Amino acid sequence: MDDDDGWDDTAVTDERKRARVGGAVAQSADLDSFETVDAERHDVGDDDVGFDLHYCGICHTDLHFVQNDMHSTQYPLCPGHELAGVVTSVGKNVTKFKVGDKVGVGCMVDSCLSCKNCAIDEEQYCDNGMTMTYGSQTTHGRAGPNGKQTMGGYSTKMVVNERFAIKLPDSAPLDKTAPLLCAGITLYDPIKAFGVKPGMRVGVAGVGGLGMMGIKIAAALGADVTAISRCHAKEELAKSFGAKHYVAMSDEASVAAAAASLDLILDTVSACHDSDPYAKMLDKRGTLCMLGLQLTPVAVNATEFVFTRKQVTGSLIGGIARTQEMIDFCCSRDIYPDIEVIDVTKVTTALKALVNGNDAGVRYVIDCKTIQ
Ligand code: ZN
Ligand code: ZN
Repeated sequence: MDDDDGWDDTAVTDERKRARVGGAVAQSADLDSFETVDAERHDVGDDDVGFDLHYCGICHTDLHFVQNDMHSTQYPLCPGHELAGVVTSVGKNVTKFKVGDKVGVGCMVDSCLSCKNCAIDEEQYCDNGMTMTYGSQTTHGRAGPNGKQTMGGYSTKMVVNERFAIKLPDSAPLDKTAPLLCAGITLYDPIKAFGVKPGMRVGVAGVGGLGMMGIKIAAALGADVTAISRCHAKEELAKSFGAKHYVAMSDEASVAAAAASLDLILDTVSACHDSDPYAKMLDKRGTLCMLGLQLTPVAVNATEFVFTRKQVTGSLIGGIARTQEMIDFCCSRDIYPDIEVIDVTKVTTALKALVNGNDAGVRYVIDCKTIQ
């Protein structure tokens, strides 16, 4: 491959094909517990695509998993669900990919493919449980032997069933494309599901890795975008992403001025917070869509919804077909997140920067060749 992502592919190919798989794993809920280990991937089966990982984005969800916030984490844990790389081998039944193609994997690597939700290409809501890219037990037979814990993209190699692999255009820069596979689809899917179109008034709460993608995608579709953040610090940044308006929650006048001004709010904030101020910013029949994983229940003021037919809902990533559509949309329009590429040795530092939602408006992306 002759691309400009910093990889000298010709020099490493033979050596890397023989090389073991390296993985950066958390040994406990302590963010300082990351170690680089020898790991394994299952063999490339007839329907599988094997690839060298070039980049993997770091998502806030990785932090939840490493810290065991959902009380379900098994260690060692290899996080990462924004994988981008180049195909090194394909099984005999594979038709979409050939060696040398760019390939991505997002948040899931398998689902039952026979339930009503899989039938409508919403595998993320599979009635029998999707298999997440990391931290899931393999159960449906397409992600390696059943009963093993899946291993994510803080790694050097990946094997995935073709059905769950995303084609990346040859022109796609792999470092900036990787975060689209979670942050991009998490916003793109509800943006499509709620019919965002020119002139629609869309609020995006939180100007972090998810929020910036929401602002960029909604603006690209012609929406009138309002960024909502805690204070005025990110106003310039949000406007550089395409927001026309800005609400600082710490500024009462700013909040009051936004009353009943929005048709849709995409709430990307993960930290627990009061939804009521957001509900008040919605116009009648508006929708508040939760995307961040708030881990404790939040109160909803019924009168705010009953008298107005407003609705509150949620959304989780997007199906494989929608993810492919999102990649094609974003890459053809040059819509990418602002990123900071880091060595694997900086994973702990990057995760700590996310602890309080305190990120600088960039998505951290691991350069996987630094995993040894
Ligand atoms: Zn994610
Ligand atoms: Zn299913």
